[in-house]
Amino acid sequence: MGKGAGKGADGNTTTQAMTAEVTPVVRIAIAGAGFSGAILARQLKKEPGVDVVCYEKMAQASVRKHWTQPVTGAGLNINPNAMACIGQVDPELRDRLRGIGLPRETVRASTVTGRHIYEQDMVAEGLADTHGCRVRWDDANTLIRQAAGDCIRWETTVEDHVVEKDGSITLTLANADDGSTSTEAGFDLLIAGEGRYSNTRTRALGSVAPTSYGDVCNFRILVPNAQPDGTPWPAEMGTGLFDDLQLIYNETPTVDNLAPGSALREDHEFVNTVLRSTPRVGIMRIPASKFKAEVGESLYIFGNFAIPDQKDVPAGSKTGEAMHCMFTPAGGDAELTPEARFIRETLTKNADSLHWSRFQDIPVEFSDATGHVLMLGDAAHGFCPSLGQGATTSIEDACLAATELIGAVRRTTSLVASDRHLVIAELRAAVAKIGERQSDRVDFIGSISTEAGEHIRFLPGDLDGRGSVDDDALAWTDDNHKSGWRHKMRRAWLEYPKLDLIHKAV
Ligand SMILES: Cc1cc2nc3c(=O)[nH]c(=O)nc-3n(C[C@H](O)[C@H](O)[C@H](O)COP(=O)(O)OP(=O)(O)OC[C@H]3O[C@@H](n4cnc5c(N)ncnc54)[C@H](O)[C@@H]3O)c2cc1C
Repeated sequence: MGKGAGKGADGNTTTQAMTAEVTPVVRIAIAGAGFSGAILARQLKKEPGVDVVCYEKMAQASVRKHWTQPVTGAGLNINPNAMACIGQVDPELRDRLRGIGLPRETVRASTVTGRHIYEQDMVAEGLADTHGCRVRWDDANTLIRQAAGDCIRWETTVEDHVVEKDGSITLTLANADDGSTSTEAGFDLLIAGEGRYSNTRTRALGSVAPTSYGDVCNFRILVPNAQPDGTPWPAEMGTGLFDDLQLIYNETPTVDNLAPGSALREDHEFVNTVLRSTPRVGIMRIPASKFKAEVGESLYIFGNFAIPDQKDVPAGSKTGEAMHCMFTPAGGDAELTPEARFIRETLTKNADSLHWSRFQDIPVEFSDATGHVLMLGDAAHGFCPSLGQGATTSIEDACLAATELIGAVRRTTSLVASDRHLVIAELRAAVAKIGERQSDRVDFIGSISTEAGEHIRFLPGDLDGRGSVDDDALAWTDDNHKSGWRHKMRRAWLEYPKLDLIHKAV
């Protein structure tokens, strides 16, 4: 709640802050308590001179349904650039995030037949200056929301906003608990941390974000860290077959691994597109929930294969039969490693429970023309998840936005209420600065996220994926590779915004 300008029962700013002796207080509304919204809200609520309310449409105990697999939820890879960024402005929150996760230290790739492709320690190779973190999605959400505290107003959807003649913003809110609609007036800035389908972005920019679809799809599932039949790993196997992230490719998928009468043999999209790529998964161990005693350790599996450009994921490729074929090498079952056998069995058995999406992008936009609305995270720059940079850059955005907005407020502390127009001008300038500092960077990260999916297609003229996988190995290991991949990864993981601690620990 405000520290100077109080908020009345109707949510409107009281006039006590408008007396000439009192430092002006800015009122900021955030739509959405996701990664960008909740992390920014935590910083703003600690700042004297800021009154922040974060509206979250979901109930306190929930995460969005499409992230939630039937039983156990979803996993999240928070990459080094986010961990480094949050460590600069809020080391306590970084440590709490690390405390609910496991370190993500290496990039390791091999094939379903056990061919080693590459292994890189991110920090030892100079690709990053700190490690990433692997966590349960719902735990990460719960943690950042707890850290934001009581400035979150739950089950309240920001339905509309209007910029009044005096420049203040009035919100229309839908309240899920009693089905009512209300308005709240007097905000100086509205921040959209609403995620990929942000209605605030649509209103602020006057059109729905145009989406470009690519030619690669994603699938994901989180399963218990146990053998495919649910029995625990034998004691001598410790935590099982998997730990830090590994990528596993099938570089020789073939129609010959389908049953003779299978309809998939006649499915042109499956035969000519899906099977002309190297289906791959990333798999990593995720710790037991720190918030729900009944949720144990999990394995997070996400994967990709090629689909026809700009089209839906072919229905035939989403079946257990298709998964079985995609993850069987040309040499058949005898060549499968135990890890690959586990993956194939798990995907085949759980084909109906996989979460599906396609590579897609929206143009980067951080604000409306007047600086009344700031977009962060997926609302500003939704892109494909191949490098795990969605939540990661949302966290970067939140840290940068907190720095710039709080900086603007602190620069005006000597002002009095009659100078309020100067405070607002600083705030609008800060909004512009956030876009200036972060637009090129997230545009770049979006483009390399798309590029990271390209190597799963066979090289022109090749009959299998060995050539493209070998080329990817060189890209990850050779600084002189023509793709410049290692330089690009350094830019992504090391060139995060350089920021200072925002609030000293009390
Ligand atoms: C299954 C899955 C796995 C992923 N894995 C990774 C990964 O490993 N690493 C990674 O970096 N990224 C990953 N991503 C991408 C990542 O989830 C997003 O980029 C990230 O969540 C975006 O954060 P955000 O702050 O923009 O918004 P979100 O986290 O999407 O949060 C938006 C919030 O706003 C709320 N909301 C929406 N509209 C309104 C409204 N009008 N009023 C009030 N509240 C509203 C929603 O309920 C939600 O809580 C993954 C995505 C998915 C779906």
